[in-house]
Amino acid sequence: MSKILAITNQKGGVGKTTTSVNLAASLGAAKQRVLLIDLDPQGNATMGSGINKADLEVTIYHVLMGEKTIVEARVQSGTCKYDVLPANRELAGAEIELVDVEGREMRLKEELLPILHEYDYILVDCPPALNLLTLNGLCAAKSVMIPMQCEYYALEGLSDLVNTIRKVRENLNPELEIEGLLRTMFDPRNALAQQVSDQLQQHFGDKVYRTVIPRNVRLAEAPSFGIPALYHDSQSKGTLAYLALAGEMLNNATAQVTTS
Ligand code: ATP
Ligand code: MG
Repeated sequence: MSKILAITNQKGGVGKTTTSVNLAASLGAAKQRVLLIDLDPQGNATMGSGINKADLEVTIYHVLMGEKTIVEARVQSGTCKYDVLPANRELAGAEIELVDVEGREMRLKEELLPILHEYDYILVDCPPALNLLTLNGLCAAKSVMIPMQCEYYALEGLSDLVNTIRKVRENLNPELEIEGLLRTMFDPRNALAQQVSDQLQQHFGDKVYRTVIPRNVRLAEAPSFGIPALYHDSQSKGTLAYLALAGEMLNNATAQVTTS
């Protein structure tokens, strides 16, 4: 059965999309069958996977509106070794158009049902907001990965997000759990970053991934080539960090199977 992971943080620019794209590529390289869902009208995960969002006739928008299926909308990202359910700015309209639809939070979950068996991992790149699109991601997911920068205000935003996840669990998706917190753009020479990182570990214990994603220029430039960093510079620190994260997730999954 596939593992559905919402990659979310309502704070903008914390590395959600960079994580979604590079984790999808790393899991794909580890022979996992991966679907990356772009749930953000900015379409950054789409572009970062080498798909031109301006050329698309069918996107996740049409899937959420019930006009097309995921099978009709997904794109195989051949070089990147994963599939993408792409998005472009049209998706912003779904927020408004879905308001009167019954079960509007469950649209993505429903549409995923027929294709779940085709994937080992389904990663959902959420927009920087706690809106109806993100809610669709949280209702479809089994768990949440929270990328965050270790800076002062990050902890404040985190408690809002944890509360939202709790509310979703109570009202809409009882299965939902926090899979892990991922420290992104980390600079170990920065004393504050180190301090915030220590606080995170005190509060969240083993919910904090051991893997830390460093600030790395290759991760920032890869999207301009429309490829994950793995295919831009396979030995860069950023590439290796996301490969390590995929390894950590796969190990955790194996440990869960053997202990349950
Ligand atoms: P948004 O909230 O707008 O969706 P996001 O949370 O998806 O943003 P990204 O788009 O992944 O964040 O990253 C924000 C910016 O930081 C981008 O320019 C990206 O290339 C850069 N970036 C992300 N992670 C790293 C990193 N580890 N090292 C260097 N640059 C990074
Ligand atoms: Mg993003």
